[in-house]
Amino acid sequence: MELLFLGTAAAEGYPALFCSCHHCDAARVSGGPDLRRRTAALIDGELLIDVGPDLLGVAHTFNLHLDRIAWVVQTHAHADHLLESTFTFRRAGFTATEPAHWQLCGSSKTIEQIEHALHGDGAPERVTLRAVQPFEMFQLGPYTVTGLRARHDMRIEPLFYAIERDGRALLWANDSGPWFEETWQALGQLKQRGVRFNVVVIEATMGTLPSPESPGGHMTFEECGWHHEELGRRGLLAPGARHFAHHFSHHACPLHEEITALLSPYRVQPAYDGLRIRF
Ligand SMILES: [Zn+2]
Ligand SMILES: [Zn+2]
Ligand SMILES: [Zn+2]
Repeated sequence: MELLFLGTAAAEGYPALFCSCHHCDAARVSGGPDLRRRTAALIDGELLIDVGPDLLGVAHTFNLHLDRIAWVVQTHAHADHLLESTFTFRRAGFTATEPAHWQLCGSSKTIEQIEHALHGDGAPERVTLRAVQPFEMFQLGPYTVTGLRARHDMRIEPLFYAIERDGRALLWANDSGPWFEETWQALGQLKQRGVRFNVVVIEATMGTLPSPESPGGHMTFEECGWHHEELGRRGLLAPGARHFAHHFSHHACPLHEEITALLSPYRVQPAYDGLRIRF
């Protein structure tokens, strides 16, 4: 499998859209891995995680053929992960060639929101929407996907995902505070089925904030590190598994180099936009 990080920032981007705090200004000077778009990823060039607001920019920067994407998993419907107008620009009037048909899976609330947004625009074109239940395992082409319940804005049924292909496995977890016990149990069931993760990506939005001060829907560096280590303690990792953090907020996360140092005790690396991992 190949994982391409399309974005690694929290909701407002990093540097943030309208901010001149010391982190944002320092990131503007240093550039490179310190310029972070909103969190999303592309797997094997054909499976998209989150129809986010920065797709056009990443397609230009990384020279991507987004028309080849056939499968989409949507974590939740917050605006930093879902730009509904994207569906409009897949319509015949906006493309001269026909993009691959999308099969998009997300929680019932996520699918409801997308359907609601598409309502005024006629029937959805070139996309099949499918609601999945938390902890449901489903197939998207060659990928076996399990939706895991995230601890986030619970009104909108947020999910994160275990994605398997050809005996390889990725755990992708953004927008979740410390995981629910039922989520750990579901991971235990994956283990019983023989799944061991080769790559684990866990959010660290709240960075250096002390844990009790961080809102429940996100994690600090310490909480992120603990979850990576706990996966190992529970026997859920493949030999040589690689560990990443993402979804960084300018409020609580320093520049890339400093995050690298802060996460190194956990053997976790900060991801950056454009990072490509083959596993
Ligand atoms: Zn987010
Ligand atoms: Zn800022
Ligand atoms: Zn969110």
